[in-house]
Amino acid sequence: MPNKVFFDSIAAAGDNLVSIVLRSTGETGEKSLLFMLEIAAKINLKRILKDTDSAGAVQEKLLLDILQLQKDTDYGSRHDFSAIRNVSEFLSRHPLTSYDDYGAAIKDIASTGNFTQLVSEPITLYQETSGTTGRVKLIPRTNSLSIAAMQSFQATESVAQKYFQKLSQVPQAPQRGLALVNTSAIKSTPSGVPRGTGTSGGLSDALKKFKLASDLVSIKYSSPPEIFLIPDNESAYYCHLLFGLLDKKLSYIAANFAANVLEAVQILEKYWQQLVADVRWGQLYKGLNLDESTRQRLQRCLQADPNRATELESLFTRGFAGILPRIWPHLCYIQCITTGSMRLYYESLKYYAGAVDFYSGGYAASEAWIGINLDPDRELPAYVVTPHSAVFEFIPEQDIDQPQPDTLSLTSLKIGENYEIVVTTVAGLYRYRLGDVIKCVGHYNQSPIIEFLYRRKTLLNLVGEKVSENIVLTALTTATKNLGVELQIVDYTCRHHFTDSPWRYVIYVESTDASQFAARLEECQRQMDQALCSLSSRYRELREAGRIGSLHLKLLGQGAFSALKSRLLSQGHSDSQFKMPRLITDSSLINFLEDRLYPEQAHEKD
Ligand code: AMP
Repeated sequence: MPNKVFFDSIAAAGDNLVSIVLRSTGETGEKSLLFMLEIAAKINLKRILKDTDSAGAVQEKLLLDILQLQKDTDYGSRHDFSAIRNVSEFLSRHPLTSYDDYGAAIKDIASTGNFTQLVSEPITLYQETSGTTGRVKLIPRTNSLSIAAMQSFQATESVAQKYFQKLSQVPQAPQRGLALVNTSAIKSTPSGVPRGTGTSGGLSDALKKFKLASDLVSIKYSSPPEIFLIPDNESAYYCHLLFGLLDKKLSYIAANFAANVLEAVQILEKYWQQLVADVRWGQLYKGLNLDESTRQRLQRCLQADPNRATELESLFTRGFAGILPRIWPHLCYIQCITTGSMRLYYESLKYYAGAVDFYSGGYAASEAWIGINLDPDRELPAYVVTPHSAVFEFIPEQDIDQPQPDTLSLTSLKIGENYEIVVTTVAGLYRYRLGDVIKCVGHYNQSPIIEFLYRRKTLLNLVGEKVSENIVLTALTTATKNLGVELQIVDYTCRHHFTDSPWRYVIYVESTDASQFAARLEECQRQMDQALCSLSSRYRELREAGRIGSLHLKLLGQGAFSALKSRLLSQGHSDSQFKMPRLITDSSLINFLEDRLYPEQAHEKD
């Protein structure tokens, strides 16, 4: 998604050129700028693909550059970076690390501003991670880290433009997209540096500081820049949708995650009558949570379009199945992450998206960009690891429980094998265990192509069976499909139950059809247990040996997961990057869910 470095990199491409183009007004100027952006994206893609030709050498050079860059920091002096001459020396001298090795220093830097403890460049943003495996971590971002990520992001845009050829058939370029991003709750550290999610933090800062950023947002996306700064999530999505609806020629939707798109579409479903009225009369809905100056500025951008309103009304009254391509007939693709914890929301989104393609373009973390998807056609998205974005190492899956296992380099992965990712970044993390486990499914030149499998800390693991999130979701959907009625899952999460004997899993689930689900709960529970046995041989063996008890499926009442999300947001999790935790260990959160059992299930309360 767009962020500060997006604009930095455009500026780097030639400030003068950009300002000349910006001075030319009207559509010609816009077209030229879009053209420049496309060229920049193509150049980045080309450069990244070229890197994969000699990924080993690119990685070695990157490591030496990082050590050189950081050698005079306190961390670099302590670890004698200036004496390290090659990769093997680095590996033998520096241990594998986790967030605990940096947490105290980062906290101190955030409060004092003394960044040279860890990095030689100023920290531009403290990125909040999504906290799916526990507390929210703060990961420092520097310009170098942003530039590397931006190059990868632009490369995904280039893949999308190239692949979804229909884009060029959209009448009257420039082709705009609907960007479902907001910058909610950008805070600041005691040393005055912004803190927020990787995407929203950078964007907010850029929009506030640079007119260029606002100009580019206006050209690329249907939303006026003010909308990206609205702190209230629902109001922000409403406004994105309103300006999107006014633009019938939209050719793509872009968001970080499938969950963001689903949330927006659900707001569309809830408020479509109000949205149609706003389109008809050119008046912004009074019920939105906006400050007065934002409201006035947006109101000035809004123009009544009674014909479009009538058209939209007739489309909405015909129902929401396949609604997106009906309201935007030129919509070619939806770019958002659909893998990992987003799979459930992606499945729900297909109902609204009809035949529109999805493109899960990037695999990225606050710590570093990891890969780009070069093959949008592939059923299960897979990502080519980008050698310029971090120095990568991989721990074979069978060793991930060891504290200091041996690692493999980027160029040594075997197809069909699973590994945990380790990164050394330009922004002060060294041999850092990311906690993501991937599968190598191919090679692009010297770089591996990987599928995301699971987060290490979300594995269900009572007695060594290691059942991943992916398997749990597949078992749950298989079970619900086998019930003979269509039951939609809103969300789910799991916990280990260590007080029952034998130990077993508890799966909390919410469905849009709670009464139908309740009537079939026992059957669904049995089916899910069976599905788990067939998907995981280790689970089956332990079940058969009586070491794991049958799983317990608990149905939650309507709104339970939305309430859980609100509670986690109030504890510091970020909205725009929110991912539902799939394994809950905190007893207060478990009690929170137990208090929200579907009324007929209340007697099941622990
Ligand atoms: P954050 O901690 O908020 O920076 O989120 C980064 C994490 O999101 C990664 O470590 C992955 O676990 C997950 N993630 C990012 N991109 C993808 C993807 N394309 N597919 C699956 N999971 C992803």
